[in-house]
Amino acid sequence: MKVFVLSHSGKPLMPTTPRRARIFLKTRRARVVSREPFTIQLRFETTTHTQPVTVGVDTGSQTVGIAATANRQVVFQAEMHLRTDISGKLIQRRQYRRTRRSRKTRYRAARWANRRKSSGWLPPSLRAKAEATVKAVRFVARVLPISQINVEIGSFDTQKMQNPEVSGVSYQQGQLQGYLLREYLLAKWQRQCAYCHTSGVALQVEHLIPKSRGGSDRTSNLVIACEPCNKRKGTRTAAEFGYPEIQAQARRPLKDAAHVSSIKTAVVSLLAQQFGAERVAVRYGYETKYQRIQVLNLPKSHAYDAVAIACAIGEVVKPLTTGYQLRCVPRGHYQLYNGKHSEHKVWAPQKVKSWKLYELVEAKGQIGYIAGRRLTGAFVVKDGRSGKALAEVTPRKLLRLARCVGGWIITRFPFPHITGKEGGASSPS
Ligand SMILES: [Zn+2]
Repeated sequence: MKVFVLSHSGKPLMPTTPRRARIFLKTRRARVVSREPFTIQLRFETTTHTQPVTVGVDTGSQTVGIAATANRQVVFQAEMHLRTDISGKLIQRRQYRRTRRSRKTRYRAARWANRRKSSGWLPPSLRAKAEATVKAVRFVARVLPISQINVEIGSFDTQKMQNPEVSGVSYQQGQLQGYLLREYLLAKWQRQCAYCHTSGVALQVEHLIPKSRGGSDRTSNLVIACEPCNKRKGTRTAAEFGYPEIQAQARRPLKDAAHVSSIKTAVVSLLAQQFGAERVAVRYGYETKYQRIQVLNLPKSHAYDAVAIACAIGEVVKPLTTGYQLRCVPRGHYQLYNGKHSEHKVWAPQKVKSWKLYELVEAKGQIGYIAGRRLTGAFVVKDGRSGKALAEVTPRKLLRLARCVGGWIITRFPFPHITGKEGGASSPS
């Protein structure tokens, strides 16, 4: 794993090897500015030539992939777990305020006339996710001289698919065009088998009129079907199979395919604001899928998707074997009172036996973070990657690894070994 380098004036330079960083540190020509990710700052003036670094962002509702490539190498690779507790917390706050109105306390006026949603307003839960995604890009920009940011916004490009029903896009397994067409078909048939409507299984592209009976590769002759249906249908046409309506429906093109989720729109516009619109480019899921499976031959994961997004189509890069794990956590607890009638003032200290929440610790040989503390009794330690409880440990058996800074917990973790090729264009989506 590379060591990130800042110039004498604090500008990010190209990352270096651990060996060279060690020499710089030993000869006191550099100092450590951050342990995670390991970053050094040079103590002497250098030229500030940098090569273009591209960042790929795979947005998601729970997990976000971030990767950076330069010189046909992956230099940064991370998975970020977003907060999912926000809407629940807002509901709790709303309930507290509402019950307060019927209690014998100072009256809290109901607010209803001062509510106006500005254009571009997002629900708080989604806003937090969009802003965390952008924050992760800023995090990368602090240690790498990024020149371009690629963001995946949809599964396929509607511009290129303006008239896929008649244009020459044909289904060829493995080709980029095939991936585009497959995503189009998946959207057209709502990601479920056209015959039995099962979803969540491996779906295949299926010919309504079989090729053996003169059926074409045109989009209007293709549907998405599960393997059992595909097998049972055999060499029959859809009408003979008992689904004449599917044959009729297949001729209608997909409407409003330009759907981009609001969170992705927000991410793209926030990135354009902060980094300049000319440095932000959009990518599509079919390109990512083609690049990840056919060119890079990587298994499905958010970080590897981000690597595929950061590459130019057809560019071969070597992924890292270790990456970062970022888990977004609240920056604090703001509850003032608790109890059934809010009769108890919350007096819980910031530190319990010198431990804060969300500190990275080693407990019973496992690495996790402090998710719950008790004045007397064991602390709850959770896994940074899955968020599941690892152990309950008394605080004196904990070993502090790092404190939580910047609203997230950073850990390193090894990436899965590269496995065999995923099932090409008939992989589950
Ligand atoms: Zn089926």
